This record gives sequence, structure tokens and C-alpha cells, in this order.
Amino acid sequence: YAEIPEGTKHRISRDDIVVGRILGEGFFGEVHNGVYKKRICVAIKTCKDCSADVKEKFLSEASLMKNLDHPHIVRLIGVIEVDPVWIVMELYEHGELGNYLVEQQYILSTAMLIQYCVQICKALAYLEGLNMVHRDIAVRNVLVASANCVKLGDFGLSRYVDEQEYYKASVSRLPIKWMAPESINFRRFTTASDVWMFGVCVWEIFSLAQQPFFWLENGQVVNQLESGVRLPKPQLCPPTIYSLLSRCWAYEPHGRPGFSQLVCSLRYALQTQGSS
Ligand code: ADP
Repeated sequence: YAEIPEGTKHRISRDDIVVGRILGEGFFGEVHNGVYKKRICVAIKTCKDCSADVKEKFLSEASLMKNLDHPHIVRLIGVIEVDPVWIVMELYEHGELGNYLVEQQYILSTAMLIQYCVQICKALAYLEGLNMVHRDIAVRNVLVASANCVKLGDFGLSRYVDEQEYYKASVSRLPIKWMAPESINFRRFTTASDVWMFGVCVWEIFSLAQQPFFWLENGQVVNQLESGVRLPKPQLCPPTIYSLLSRCWAYEPHGRPGFSQLVCSLRYALQTQGSS
């Protein structure tokens, strides 16, 4: 077979898509469910006021996703680049992990919650290998494919890190309560700041989707972090996992573990939990 030319392999035809109901409101416009080629269930992201520069931002998420292939990352099916512009992804019927944790709280076991953490951590170790920083790791950006499989999504803020090894953000729409101190102070984003955010996401999972630092204003968070305050251990969180979180929240980025190491530690916690 001839190679599919780069840049065209994700171009799909609108005729192959049947659009269904609204799933939710995204930053750029409505997200619908639908069916692709009569058999693949998809989510279709649309762009409401798609001027040329908005369109570029909207499509940047898709162009990053084109290069990703991982069992725990949202899969891109394709893009339609002519107006109305659409991004088509695989559909994950159970929706956002945050809502799912609340709805299913009485049937979710600790082992299953640790599984979700391992899966998200594997996805992030994969991104680390591609020199990509995600920058928005939170349960609102993880989708539930089935009761035992979650997928990291929302690459709207993701970037490849350049030769300076960090990405300096210019936007102000940032998730302060999830962010590492160097990201809040200097807008410095690295794999180590993703590790901090992953720690906050694990905290959300064991808190069944409470908002981190809901008792503080955004403006108070960095002072608290600098005086050594950290998120408290959620009741459901095993102590071994909370001690990992404390390491993810080391003030100095160099003091934090890497994602591959975290995968190993979380797996070990999974094997040993309940046996103490
Ligand atoms: P944005 O990042 O542009 O703000 P989101 O990705 O948050 O948009 O999508 C908006 C809504 O659509 C969310 O509530 C989410 O649950 C839903 N959604 C997005 N992608 C999918 C998908 N692949 N499968 C199922 N639901 C999805």
C-alpha cells in the first residue's frame, strides 16, 4: 500500500457523518454525538464563531492529537477543515470522569480508583516521551470509556516543549488551583509541572471530584503553597498513595518523581492495597 501523505490522513468527509444530539458545550462551541461510516460512535466538536484566527486555535488541538496513539488517550478520528469546521473523536459514552465519580460513588472500589490513576499516569508517561506537556490535567478532562477504562483528553492547552525545555504561557485562562507554584508565578510549564497537576488530579479522584482548594480564592493559593500548605489526604486515599502525592507536590520541580516511576509506585500500591 502507498503511504498516506502526512496532513491528509485525518481528513474525512462530512457525508460519512450522521450528527446526533448535543453532549455538552465546549469552549469553542457545541459538542454533539454522532455516527461515522454507519458504525463508529463519535463525538463531534463544532466551532461557533470560527474566524481565521479562532479556527487556527480550534484546530491546534486536533493537530496535536493526530500524532498520539495510546490506549488511555482520547482518539482522534478526523477533522473537517472546510466550514463549518469539525473535530471528530471517538465517543466515550460515560462522559467526564468528574461527573462519573459523583454518580458512581457508591459502587467504585478503591482498587478501581487506583486503576484510573495508573491509566492516566501511563498516558502522561507516553506524552513525556514525546516531549509534550499537557498543562490541564484534571478529572474534567478525563473521559470514561467503560467502567474500567479512562482516557485523557482535552489537548487544548497542550504544547510541545521547545529547546528551552519549557513552555511559557501567554494566556490568562489558567486552572490556578491545579497548577504548580512555578506555573502560577512564572507561567513555567514542564513535565515536572504536569506531575504536580497529576497529583492534584489523583486528589480529585480520591475526593470523588471535590474541587481542590474549594475553601480558597484563586489569589490565595500560591501564598498557601509557599508557606508549605498542601491539599489534605482525602478519606478514601490510601496512605501510600498520599505519600506519593506529597512527592508530586515538592516545591522544587527537580524534587518531584517522573511519570514512569509514578506508574511503578501506583501499580505497587494497587497490588498491596487492602492487604495491610
Ligand atoms: P472544550 O475542551 O472545547 O471546552 P470539551 O472537550 O470539554 O470541550 O467538551 C465539552 C463536552 O463534550 C464535555 O462535557 C464532554 O463531556 C463532552 N465530550 C467531549 N469529547 C467527548 C468524547 N470524545 N466523548 C464523549 N463526550 C465528549
